[in-house]
Amino acid sequence: MSMTSMSGSNNVVVIGGGAAGMMAAGTAASFGAHVTLLEPNGKLGKKLFITGKGRCNVTNNCASDEVLKNVPVNPRFLYSALSGFSPADAMAFFEAHGCPLKTERGNRVFPESDQAGSVIDALRRFLKETGVKIEWERALEITAENGAVTGVRTQTGVLPADKVILATGGCSYPATGSTGDGYEMAARLGHTIIEPRGSLVPLVEKGHTCAAMQGLALKNVDVKLLDAKGKCVFEEFGELLFTHFGLSGPVILSASCHMQRGRDGYRVVIDLKPALDEKTLDARLLRDFAEFRNKDLSNALVKLLPHSMIVPAIQKAGLSSQQKVNELTKAERRSLLETIKHFPIDIASCAPVEQAIVTSGGVKVSEVSPKTMESKLVKGLYFAGELLDVDAYTGGFNLQIAWATGRLAGSASAQEG
Ligand SMILES: Cc1cc2nc3c(=O)[nH]c(=O)nc-3n(C[C@H](O)[C@H](O)[C@H](O)COP(=O)(O)OP(=O)(O)OC[C@H]3O[C@@H](n4cnc5c(N)ncnc54)[C@H](O)[C@@H]3O)c2cc1C
Repeated sequence: MSMTSMSGSNNVVVIGGGAAGMMAAGTAASFGAHVTLLEPNGKLGKKLFITGKGRCNVTNNCASDEVLKNVPVNPRFLYSALSGFSPADAMAFFEAHGCPLKTERGNRVFPESDQAGSVIDALRRFLKETGVKIEWERALEITAENGAVTGVRTQTGVLPADKVILATGGCSYPATGSTGDGYEMAARLGHTIIEPRGSLVPLVEKGHTCAAMQGLALKNVDVKLLDAKGKCVFEEFGELLFTHFGLSGPVILSASCHMQRGRDGYRVVIDLKPALDEKTLDARLLRDFAEFRNKDLSNALVKLLPHSMIVPAIQKAGLSSQQKVNELTKAERRSLLETIKHFPIDIASCAPVEQAIVTSGGVKVSEVSPKTMESKLVKGLYFAGELLDVDAYTGGFNLQIAWATGRLAGSASAQEG
């Protein structure tokens, strides 16, 4: 029996002062555990601060079942966590800790202040009122004996622990502190790590079409993601951005979640004029071609397409910029129309995980109890947040996962024994 158990206390060390770690630490302390939170950043919630473009999309105002529909990988693992701490519970929690909220389009919930800092302040208040001790230290290793955790080694020594909650996040946006340390700590204790990769991530194209349009943002376009067999696996209307390496912007980030692990041959197809059906677009082309009949093709599309798209569109249609408009055949006009309605970009890969909004992959969930978040391999070891092999679409679902798993790991670890 450890010294701490003999004295009747339950020492919980939480590794990581992000969304999940703060929720877990305050919860464990509110259930009577002695909690120490380790965070090397010198401040809490560095990633939270940049979420939702600085406004923090805290959760999604929907039922827990609806959250599960927005989790493409391992949703069933989250069933208990989300039943115990639903989006409504998360909203009540933040309101009760001095962070009034509002719900916007798509049920996305934000702080009324439009400041992610308000969410962090609410969590700081929670940690203070529950008496969590914060140490600005990096955890290096979780120590264990006879299949049970005994402590956490940091740069300055070993902190004894009856329970350890690992909440170090994924490995995207490493400047926020999520450098992937937790994977190594978990692996050293025998856990399997599903290879981390980016989700909600920009896409790298095969070829160089996008580079020519770098910086161009298209609003109100219809975007489809096709798999190697040409089957549409995602379609959304919205905004995208051309970059020097490929595609980014909200619709593309969402599309990336629908790309299956280990598969390639994906293609993004953009309808540049979704408001015009083919007949109307053809009439529009004929009108523009009549107006510019003696010009080169590249000069005849100035009214229809953004400047930097004209040459790429002509090339994709298999035509030449110098072709005279009055010499275009009906088939060539048809080819141009097809390109405008179905502008194709072949995808080579996702951008590196560091550029992803969330990390897909992580601690294999079949080695973790969904009822408690405790490791099935090492007694007293718990997991919470993005470190686990679960991730969700945009809309506040990823933070909801962090709150719910943090809450469950916190309450379960606070039980003595
Ligand atoms: C730009 C951006 C915008 C986003 N916007 C949203 C949004 O609006 N809504 C939404 O739902 N999700 C959003 N996300 C995703 C969301 O931020 C994450 O899913 C969430 O922060 C995960 O929480 P976490 O606690 O698991 O990890 P993190 O928040 O990454 O926290 C992990 C913490 O662990 C610490 N740590 C790492 N290693 C160690 C170590 N060895 N010892 C001690 N501590 C360590 C880190 O410093 C960090 O503070 C966004 C992500 C990004 C990058």
